[in-house]
Amino acid sequence: MKRLFLLAIMIFIFLLKPESRELQVTFLNVGEGDSILIESPFGQNILIDGGPDEDVVRKLGEALPFWERKIDLLILTHPHSDHITGLNSVLERFYVDRVLYTGVEDSLPAYDDFLKIIEDKNILISKVGGFKSIEMGKDCSLKIIYPLNDISGKSFDNLNNSSIVSKLDCANKTFLFTGDIEKEAEEAILISGINIKSDVLKVAHHGSDTSNTEEFLNFVSPELAVIQSGEGNSFGHPSLRIVKRLERKGVQVLRNDIEGTIELTYKIN
Ligand SMILES: [Zn+2]
Repeated sequence: MKRLFLLAIMIFIFLLKPESRELQVTFLNVGEGDSILIESPFGQNILIDGGPDEDVVRKLGEALPFWERKIDLLILTHPHSDHITGLNSVLERFYVDRVLYTGVEDSLPAYDDFLKIIEDKNILISKVGGFKSIEMGKDCSLKIIYPLNDISGKSFDNLNNSSIVSKLDCANKTFLFTGDIEKEAEEAILISGINIKSDVLKVAHHGSDTSNTEEFLNFVSPELAVIQSGEGNSFGHPSLRIVKRLERKGVQVLRNDIEGTIELTYKIN
């Protein structure tokens, strides 16, 4: 009887023991486009971009537990179809708490749809321009580091350079998410003096050679670089020159077009 009692106590203690927490960053294989899911150790889900079509809903379903239909923060880096179109399906099918975007001007129909769905569903939406830190819990934050200033209502000749760039600092790991910025934006970030050193780099603009300058990569100095490009895409992404440039620096390169969805998990004790 006494033994049974002790066993019951031990099972009770085991069940009470908190699970070791994890940070998961998943680079969803959405074809030619970007979509990154951050699952923080504190339970928040952040989605950066949604790829070119509704396939992101299925990919999110595979990455998240089956009961999880909540995105705490959805970030649109810039309104190009390979980043925004899938977000519209996510906004329709998931419970989205908050949206962050730059408010840049563009006439893409999917951008109108994006803003309309958000308005219809009464979702909180904020424009970001200039530094902003989103705190998620102890030693865990997402910092918006670019655009450097408010660009709301402005139009860009090259929308890629309006992309939101953010840095995740969590579980003693740092990640730089660069959207589709090109050389000009990379230069502006370097001149600003912001610390972009990161363990993991989401390679800018699907590994294009109009981005990812030698100097920018030297400052980021990642251990691991992830390229979000679609298998057999017509743009020739990623550029072989950029892949070689990263490899010459001793950076491990992972690509969605080769590996499929890439999931990085870090345990926190
Ligand atoms: Zn893109």
